[in-house]
Amino acid sequence: MLKQKKYIALMLLLALLIPLQAQVASFRINAGGESRNIFASNLYGGAKWMSLNHFFNTFGEIRSLDTRDWSLSVALGGVEYVFYANSAFYLRNGEWRHLPTTVERLSYGLYIPEAEFVRILREDLYPDLIYNESDDHYILMPGDFSVRDISLREMKNGTVIRIRTSKTFPRDYCRVWQGNNQYLYISIYEARGDLNGLSRSYSSGVIREIIPVMAKESLQLNVKLRMRIDGMEYYIEPESGDIIVSLRHAYQKSAVAPDENSIKQRWLIDTIVIDPGHGGSKSPGAVAPDGTPEKDIVMDVSRRLGNLLESRLGVRVVYTREKDVFVPLWQRPKIANEAAGKLFISIHCNSSESSRPYGTETFILAPKSTEESIAIAARENKVIELEEDRERYEKLLSPEQYILSTMAQSIYMKESESLALAVETNFKGRLAARSRGVKQASFIVLIGPAMPAILTEIGFISNYNELNKLKKDSYRQEVAHALYLAIAEFKENYEREIRN
Ligand SMILES: [Zn+2]
Repeated sequence: MLKQKKYIALMLLLALLIPLQAQVASFRINAGGESRNIFASNLYGGAKWMSLNHFFNTFGEIRSLDTRDWSLSVALGGVEYVFYANSAFYLRNGEWRHLPTTVERLSYGLYIPEAEFVRILREDLYPDLIYNESDDHYILMPGDFSVRDISLREMKNGTVIRIRTSKTFPRDYCRVWQGNNQYLYISIYEARGDLNGLSRSYSSGVIREIIPVMAKESLQLNVKLRMRIDGMEYYIEPESGDIIVSLRHAYQKSAVAPDENSIKQRWLIDTIVIDPGHGGSKSPGAVAPDGTPEKDIVMDVSRRLGNLLESRLGVRVVYTREKDVFVPLWQRPKIANEAAGKLFISIHCNSSESSRPYGTETFILAPKSTEESIAIAARENKVIELEEDRERYEKLLSPEQYILSTMAQSIYMKESESLALAVETNFKGRLAARSRGVKQASFIVLIGPAMPAILTEIGFISNYNELNKLKKDSYRQEVAHALYLAIAEFKENYEREIRN
């Protein structure tokens, strides 16, 4: 027995002396712990493989190394393993386990792909094991660190900070605010994290540096910015509990600054996009009890509105459809953006299971995708069931993606809201209709337009009285006129602000 132990010691010594490629995988027991470098080597196309002998010699115990069949018995934290060279099987407490790859022998050491080994460690021994990106270390027992990692995603017009957490913080435990000194602050009450491990610096992009500090009971992230941001929002992602902070900022400016007049010119409302809802035999929209389809009513109102806008405001009008054809929801904002539209008006009729509800309502995009906002939008989004590319929409409505995709639109939230308000006010005043107010919903058609955008429901065709009105030319002209007045009013206020 003693002889065997000496032999193992000798083998280990040899293993240490035999030069390997200068590669290591670094581990710490806990955040403040000493750093231990474990031999590793690049095998097969560059993947990092690490030495099982060296790892268990450092953190656990080597029971035996049999050089006849190259089996290595080790133990750590009450778990015993036997690994075999050239085998994809290993024993864990006497039970066979399988690896996606074989364990390889290099001189006297057995090597395993780093990622595979980390997976085993996490499953059997250290469920909280984290990888610390900033200093390239694994921390086996990060303790009660509730903030694990920070990552960034850069978009053309915004940046998303994902703060990975090990528990879900209530929303009011988080605070995000902007200082007047190039800093943005994110404070998470009762959070803890590895201050070294969470610090970040970036050589390009909007964020220059993230400096974590402990402030009283809170973990605070001081985010140093390279440029001004136009706004921010944050939410707690329900599934993961991660904190998502999204920063909106202007499109990257070109090197040559355009003169002020041409900027002002660009913002004038010279092109208005009208989106008549639904269309084609595939998508009639709501259908009234007498068979009148929504698509026909809204097409007619759209044309009437377009004529008023062209003749009285002298603006260019672009329609997302001019005939009774099917246009997928995702294409409508695209048409608007490509036409360099300055306003987007989607026109629909409402309907309900009951014949009682009536009145108008006008929507702006909900800032967050919630079950409620998706449910309200369900009817107008329903057409996606008929479209081929359904995945496209499912992604759009997932919470993180939603924030990203709605960034362009959320910049215009204030304008969209005042346009919506003007529409409802004019409906109420001119149509003697009952205004159900301005609401928020996750309408797909409102996600894409990079301009103020609203979706207006001009009445319930499931209501007998309102349907009869909407079937009259004169009433539809009144609806168009009310919309025209609202837009004219909005345009005037908006352009006055730009001119000053
Ligand atoms: Zn509709």
